[in-house]
Amino acid sequence: MGWVLRLVETETDSLGRGVDVMEISRSRDLGDMANLGLRLAEAKQLLARVQQAVVAAQAYRHAVLRPDCSSCGGGCHIKDWRLHQVATLFGVVEVRLPRFRCVSCRHSETCVSWPSHCRSTPELDQLRAHLSGFMPYRVAAGVLAHLLPVEAGKSPETLRGHTLKIGEQLRDAPAVKPAAAAAAITVTVDSTFIRSCHDDERHLEVRVGNVETSDGGRPVFSAVARTDTDIAVLIRQSLETVGRTADTEVTAFTDGCPGLRSILAEAGVMKPPIADWFHIAMRLQHAKQAASGLSTDEAGRIQAKTAIVAEVERLHWRIWNGKARNAQLTLERIRKVMHVFKGERGHRMTGVASRKLWHALHAVDNYLRGQSARLVNYAERHRAGLRVGTSVTEGTANFLVNRRMNKAQQMRWSRRGADLLLQVRCAIYNGSLGSGFGHLFEPVSISGPRWQRRRDPPTFWTLPSLTGVSREWGIMPPWPTARPGRYAAETGGRGLNRTPHCRPHSEPGAGNRLPVGTSASAATCSFAD
Ligand SMILES: [Zn+2]
Repeated sequence: MGWVLRLVETETDSLGRGVDVMEISRSRDLGDMANLGLRLAEAKQLLARVQQAVVAAQAYRHAVLRPDCSSCGGGCHIKDWRLHQVATLFGVVEVRLPRFRCVSCRHSETCVSWPSHCRSTPELDQLRAHLSGFMPYRVAAGVLAHLLPVEAGKSPETLRGHTLKIGEQLRDAPAVKPAAAAAAITVTVDSTFIRSCHDDERHLEVRVGNVETSDGGRPVFSAVARTDTDIAVLIRQSLETVGRTADTEVTAFTDGCPGLRSILAEAGVMKPPIADWFHIAMRLQHAKQAASGLSTDEAGRIQAKTAIVAEVERLHWRIWNGKARNAQLTLERIRKVMHVFKGERGHRMTGVASRKLWHALHAVDNYLRGQSARLVNYAERHRAGLRVGTSVTEGTANFLVNRRMNKAQQMRWSRRGADLLLQVRCAIYNGSLGSGFGHLFEPVSISGPRWQRRRDPPTFWTLPSLTGVSREWGIMPPWPTARPGRYAAETGGRGLNRTPHCRPHSEPGAGNRLPVGTSASAATCSFAD
């Protein structure tokens, strides 16, 4: 069977001008499931042709416009025509557009305000940046080429160039200030590393973080150290985005790196940051695991192990309640019973548990000594419903950096390339890059009306299908409907039911094969059998 897809213009003065876009033919035999519906190649061709037809009609309409001279206000006449080749999501299109010259002052005018040297539509640029944010440039190029009739600019290098350009624009965009001021904001900053492609260094330091309010959004930010992107400016902008004012109380969390502290001060966060609980808990966890692995092959060791496990738990409790500035007390108590594990035989893979425990406890002690000025009563904060750590930022580093750029991917990054790609990834997660596709963090609560789900959402079969045009022409066969209820009443009871005996074309007199483009009465999508 075959169809002709026809595009009919609906402007009132167009006299129903139409163009046959494509002839589609599919096998009538549904014995093989592969024959069902359109194939990808046909769909891509269809999209490309519809795009070309629409653009041609738009260019035709636009060419009849005459701008007024911008310097003297006089009338313009056509100077020459220029051919523009523009890459769109649905293939490359060519547009012929006139340039004008003022009749009186000879000033040149154009009738479009397109950016100079722009060869692609913003939507295509945005989609390329989106895909590149999620997957390697080569894979993103492959996905684009596979699904869409994109002909131009699908090489990985082009994708990279476009993505980095968008990253630059995002970095330089000013912060959008919200209407409401925030009473309290939590800002967390952390750093992680990615592999460098430069000869003189192995790793690049990446700073990541987020700001959070109780009722606003949770924007993330990140930047590679020593690039044109200033992380302090990013923090300042993120704080403004969630509504920082002079009265806002800003609480900062870091893992204790002095560099991050000075960055926060540069961003206007003057209160010293709190040592986050996550990094302490991580070290405590190592100690607990080592303690639980102590051997119990002798009676004395069972007793000692019980005492050590309890002692590590007590250390945990003391730090959580703000009662420990170091782990010396615990180390002393454990040292007293540690001798029973002398000569403990370790596991071939995991090593000697008592030695691991000793290392882990020293790590806790060293960390606490370095952070002692910034330890707080975490239990009290937690009971008050306040944040105690930056596990969110650890997660942020994970999804923002590691998923796309980590070492397992065998990728090495240039300083600028990694930094600008991170700007794109942040924008995707903050929902500030276009459509919100990929947006991870919704604000905690969204004030304003939400879309209510209809109890009887329209389906393909119940949608009012006849557009103004086809009604006007009276040539559109009624859509088949599963329920001869409401729709049947509208169409005078001609609704079809979907039974094996349904006829594909119920309009008497309009059936049979339609010669392509011979009659204005050809349906917008005419059924031919
Ligand atoms: Zn003029």
